[in-house]
Amino acid sequence: MKAAVFHRPGKISVDDVPDASLKDPQDAIVRVTATAICGSDLHMYNGFIPQVRPMVMGHEFMGVVEEVGTGISKLKVGDRVIVPFPIACGGCFFCAHNLPGHCEYSNIEKYGPEGGLLTQKGGGMFGYSDLYGGYDGGQAEYVRVPFADVGPRRIDSSLADDQVLFLTDIFPTGYTAVDWGGVKGGETVAVFGCGPVGLMAQKVAWARGARRVFAVDLEEYRLTMAREVCRSETINLHQQDPIEVIRELTEGRGADVCIDAVGQEAERSMWERIANVVHLQVGSLNALRMCLSAVRRGGVVSVVGVYAVPYDNFPLGQIFDKGITLRLGQAPVHACVDDLLQWVETKKIRLDDIITHRLPLSAASHAYDIFNRKQDGCVKVVMYPGETGEAEAKDLAGLA
Ligand code: NAD
Ligand code: ZN
Ligand code: ZN
Repeated sequence: MKAAVFHRPGKISVDDVPDASLKDPQDAIVRVTATAICGSDLHMYNGFIPQVRPMVMGHEFMGVVEEVGTGISKLKVGDRVIVPFPIACGGCFFCAHNLPGHCEYSNIEKYGPEGGLLTQKGGGMFGYSDLYGGYDGGQAEYVRVPFADVGPRRIDSSLADDQVLFLTDIFPTGYTAVDWGGVKGGETVAVFGCGPVGLMAQKVAWARGARRVFAVDLEEYRLTMAREVCRSETINLHQQDPIEVIRELTEGRGADVCIDAVGQEAERSMWERIANVVHLQVGSLNALRMCLSAVRRGGVVSVVGVYAVPYDNFPLGQIFDKGITLRLGQAPVHACVDDLLQWVETKKIRLDDIITHRLPLSAASHAYDIFNRKQDGCVKVVMYPGETGEAEAKDLAGLA
C-alpha cells in the first residue's frame, strides 16, 4: 500500500509499504478516505520529537472499516468511522477517568508516571514516533486501529469527509482549550496562534458565548482567515504588541482567558536561538509568556500547543502573583467527541471552511513542505489516499 513515511527530519516521502494487517483480536483495519496534516506532525517533521526508524505518519484520519479482529463487537465491516488520535484501551484507570491520552495499556514500552524527556510518556498515538507506541499512522491507504471498539465513532449521516474529519483532533483540541478556560458566556478570550487549532478554539469560544475573541499571529493570511471565518479581532504581533493591545481593549486588565495554540515552535529571535544553545534547550516559551502577560489577574491560561522539553526561567513568580490558573496537555478526544459530533450534525459549528488545500496522498511531501513553511496560503491540508484519491482531490479542490 502507499503511505507517507517519515525518514528523517524534513524528509517524508510516499512509499510502498507492507499492507496494514490485524495483529490483535481488538484491532480493525480501516481503509482511509481522508487524512489531514496536523501542526503536531510538524514537531516530528522538524526534529523536535525524535524518531530514528522510518514510520508511517498521520493521526487525523477517517475511513471505512475493511476488516475486524475476533474481539471486536461494535464495529462492522463497511462502517464509516472517524478515529480519535489518542489510542486508548477503554478499560484502565485513566480511560475510566476520561483521560484517554494517559491510557496505561496503549504504550506499554515507553509509558510511565514521570512524563520525562525521552522516557515515561503517556498513552499511544497514531504515527507519532516510537515514544508514543510506535504505531503506524493514517496518512496511508490503510491503517491498523488498535482497541477498535473504543476509539472509532461511526458516522451514519450524509456529512462529507471534510465536514467531520477534524473531529479526530483539532476540533476536540480547540474545544478542550476553551473548556479548560472555563468559558461559560460573556468572557474575553485571546487565542495565540491562528493555525488550525487556534482557529477551532476561536470558533468554539464564540459557540460557548464569549463576548469578544482576539486572535494573535504573525502570518497575515492566517489572521485574514481568523477575521473572515471566525469573526475574531486580529492582532499581528509583527505590527503591534499583542499584550498592550489586549490590555487596552480590556480596560487595562487583560483577557479573562488566554489560549496558547502555538506551543514550543513559536517564532523566536536570533538571541533566543543563541540562548537556547547555551542553555541546551530547544524551542521557545514565547507564546506561553505572552499568554501569561495578556491574561488578567485571576484568569486562566489554557495551553494546547505542545511543549515537550523542560525550560529554564519559567515565570513561576508571575503566575503566583497574578493568581493564574494554568491548564495544559493533550486533548481527551474520546471524552468530548460524541457531543462535538452533535454540534456538527446540528450545524452549530462548521469545520471545513479552514481547508485551503485538497491533495492526493501522493502529494504528501509537497503538502508537508507548504504547511511547514506557510507557503501558498496554506492553513490546512486534507489528503485523499487510494486509487480515486487523485481524481477526488481534483474534484474537491474545484469546489473549494
Ligand atoms: P500551526 O503550526 O499551523 O499553527 C501555529 C500558529 O502559531 C502559526 O500560524 C504560527 O504563525 C503561529 N505563531 C508562531 N509563533 C507565535 C506567537 N509567538 N504568537 C502567536 N502566534 C504564533 O499548528 P496547529 O495545527 O494550529 O497546532 C498548534 C499547536 O497545537 C501545535 O503545537 C500542535 O502540536 C498542538 N496540538 C496539540 C494538541 C493537543 O492535544 N494538545 C492537538 C493538536 C495540536
Ligand atoms: Zn494533532
Ligand atoms: Zn486505557
